Amino acid sequence: MTLELIKRNGEKVKFDSKKIEIAIEKAMNSSSGIFVEGQAKKISDEIKEMAEELNETLSIYEIEEKVYYKLIENNNPATARAYENYKAVQSFKREQNTTDNEILGLINQTNLDVMNENSNKNAVIASTQRDLIAGEVSKDIAKRKMIPADLVEAHDYGAIHIHDLDYIIQPIFNCCLVNIKDMLDKGTVVNGKMIETPKSFQVACNIMTQIIAQIASNQYGGQSIDISFLGKYLRISYDKNISLALEILGDIELAEKMATKMTKKDLESGIQTIQYQINTLMTSNGQAPFVTLFMHIKDNDPYVEETAQIIEEILKQRIKGIKNEAGVYVTPAFPKLIYVLDENNVNKDSEYYYLTSLAIRCTAKRMYPDYISAKKMKVNYEGNVFSPMGCRAFLPPWQNEKGQYQFEGRFNIGACSINLPQIAILANGDENKFFDILKKRLELVRRVGMIRYDHLKNVTSDSSPIHWQHGAIARLGKHESIEPLLKNGYSTVSLGYIGIYEATFLTKGVSHTDPKGYEFAMKIMDYLNNAVQSWTKKDSIRFTLYATPAESLTHRFCQIDRDRFGVIENVTDKEFYTNSFHVDVREDISAFEKFTFESKFQDRSTGGCISYVEIPNMNHNLAALESLVKYIYDNIQYAEFNTKSDYCSECGFDGEIKLNDNDQWQCPQCGNTDKARLTVVRRTCGYLGENFWNEGRTQEINNRVLHI
Ligand SMILES: [Zn+2]
Repeated sequence: MTLELIKRNGEKVKFDSKKIEIAIEKAMNSSSGIFVEGQAKKISDEIKEMAEELNETLSIYEIEEKVYYKLIENNNPATARAYENYKAVQSFKREQNTTDNEILGLINQTNLDVMNENSNKNAVIASTQRDLIAGEVSKDIAKRKMIPADLVEAHDYGAIHIHDLDYIIQPIFNCCLVNIKDMLDKGTVVNGKMIETPKSFQVACNIMTQIIAQIASNQYGGQSIDISFLGKYLRISYDKNISLALEILGDIELAEKMATKMTKKDLESGIQTIQYQINTLMTSNGQAPFVTLFMHIKDNDPYVEETAQIIEEILKQRIKGIKNEAGVYVTPAFPKLIYVLDENNVNKDSEYYYLTSLAIRCTAKRMYPDYISAKKMKVNYEGNVFSPMGCRAFLPPWQNEKGQYQFEGRFNIGACSINLPQIAILANGDENKFFDILKKRLELVRRVGMIRYDHLKNVTSDSSPIHWQHGAIARLGKHESIEPLLKNGYSTVSLGYIGIYEATFLTKGVSHTDPKGYEFAMKIMDYLNNAVQSWTKKDSIRFTLYATPAESLTHRFCQIDRDRFGVIENVTDKEFYTNSFHVDVREDISAFEKFTFESKFQDRSTGGCISYVEIPNMNHNLAALESLVKYIYDNIQYAEFNTKSDYCSECGFDGEIKLNDNDQWQCPQCGNTDKARLTVVRRTCGYLGENFWNEGRTQEINNRVLHI
């Protein structure tokens, strides 16, 4: 008789052992399985024999169960689990929806994972809650309807992390460089209302914050603005002021004095508008807009003097801080500030050295600005200096039809990160095996990128007029497709990576700062770079290598791996993995050494990266901070300082607030532990965050050692 089997729908079909073999091989090749030559065929043959001996018609469920136990019997439990998981994901995808508990957990505030995922979102506030609820629904639909089962499995089991699943079903992208020059100079449209080119600096600042709010509500990542494009409007204000003053005073010398004073006032209130508006705005994403102001003095800028004045005012106001509820000046989280170190400001005799001094004072007090070295950046980006998009995603150079480099108006589609420590755990010290698994998993990341592209390529300019029709990205017509902007290197898709340190430690037994480990770490970097380059040729979508910000991801990956593989000393025992190529936070290394070391990785992570050093309160040691800033100029492209500028509203303590033995933040002066009465500001991703962190990130913050 012919052997038969009963399918899930009850239908009887011919028994085919080849199909079983293929299913087993799929599980072996999945992100959590292990491939063993010939094993799939052996098991499927054994099951066929068994069925023949039993001489009865088996159901697919019985066969699946036998496959599972056969894999265990054959000493391949990893594949057995992968096989099980795959089935679980498939049955999950057949279910209607699974979000009820997640959403109820948000409403009654027990879903801590989601509540603490982003330290800039306060999940207790109703409007933020609404965004988080939408995010849960989005994740659920994405997993069941949009993303193939094996990618969902790879995400759920921590092989990869598909970033921003809570927004992925929408027709939006990640982050961008706003083409603010085009929007201000040619005018724009906000909410269907025409906004003409501003006639004064104050109006320009006002419009800019309106634009920022609109953009933030229609994308999920950060946006950056080069403030030198405001210079023109400061000049317009001066010109206006001088003609008015001359008209009244009739004396040019007096009029000039008067106009200078008036323009200074305009400058102050314009910058104040930006600082206060951005910190008080709440976008539809339930948080203040993630904005970066890029401060670069370009020698060929026709408004270079005005740009310098604007930078000076931004820094002065930041040093002062922004008043909290109790009326005390504290460190604002936004906008992020980036200051470019260049020939014209880095040395004592440089023309704009006074601005660098001011920037250093500002960093000591308020953690921002971060620093970009024009000298180093030019080497990596064909002579160009430009802002990262939001916190750290950098664009590759791209030339328009006139052969000019263009950065403003370009964007990143989205990111997917790979868990390097998990690969190293599975490879168990075998380097060849490490790269074998890495190769397979990189293919998963590429596919996620293609899914994002496929999803966006049908989007038209109507989905976000401010981006596509009114200049932030482009000036497309109504209903026009955005697809051309997704291709040919105009925008990017990112491959992120976590845990070079742990992967190296697991494979080589040492940190990547050890020469033996360094060689292996660099091999990984080269491998990842080769991957993104080869994908780019194939699909005309520009993939880039990106040192993931990973605010909660370092914790997530570590937790998943500990649940799966148990406690591994120095790896899964510490609640968090190390971000990208960073040196382990517990490692004793000087700031100078750290910058020099990480710089070599930055040169290979051109799709985005940042390095930081942990410093004590430096307000009274500005000379030491200055030597570090100068060191950045010569040695590393992009760096930031983590200092401590906390505040206790209970007693007025101003300094570093630490974690107590119960892992609570506690004021060292009065003992206050009420989160609502403490302002603790720490760098949690590329941005500053206040108070709300998950357990892993809190531990990581607590474990940071000083580099000075
Ligand atoms: Zn206190």
